[in-house]
Amino acid sequence: MKKSSRSSIKRSKGRLTVIAGPMFSGKTGKLVAMVDVFTRMGHRVLIVKPKLDDRYGGGEAIHSHDHRSSRAIIVDGESAEQIVGKVLDSGVDKVILDEVQFFDREKIKKVVQVLKKKGYHVIAAGLLYDYKRQPFGATPDLLGLADEQLELFAVCQKCGSLAMHTERVGGGSAKQIEVGAADKYIAVCEKCHKVYK
Ligand SMILES: [Zn+2]
Repeated sequence: MKKSSRSSIKRSKGRLTVIAGPMFSGKTGKLVAMVDVFTRMGHRVLIVKPKLDDRYGGGEAIHSHDHRSSRAIIVDGESAEQIVGKVLDSGVDKVILDEVQFFDREKIKKVVQVLKKKGYHVIAAGLLYDYKRQPFGATPDLLGLADEQLELFAVCQKCGSLAMHTERVGGGSAKQIEVGAADKYIAVCEKCHKVYK
């Protein structure tokens, strides 16, 4: 994407949209649909993902049908200023922060605030709770700051109710982030949710 495109896109007032929900609640599907509509409208979209996401579940790629209109970068240890710089250089007007719970909490909040102030539309998607039902990274903070909020639910794999939690099947380590395949996790409702020791 050429740098000259930066000036060709008219940015309106900055905006933050947050899509929050457990695993298997269709966040990626929503993002794909959004990217499709945005690109058809002539917007340019940059998808920013944390490095960790590579190994975590993985496999689900967000892209528009018109691949030239959106692109993705992986962030691994860059500062807030460096992340903002990459967005500015990319010539987009919409920025998707995927798996936002895995970014450094304060750093990504700063990125969102700066981008919003500069007139970008930021869409942050991620898990609201970890497998212990504790707030996960910056997602709850961003939900509180959002201009638009979409909270998604999965279906409880134990009772069929709406599920807002993610259960780590069989436990694993006590770390908040257990890197591994998606088959380590199921979506469950509040009543059915268990933390295994
Ligand atoms: Zn249930």
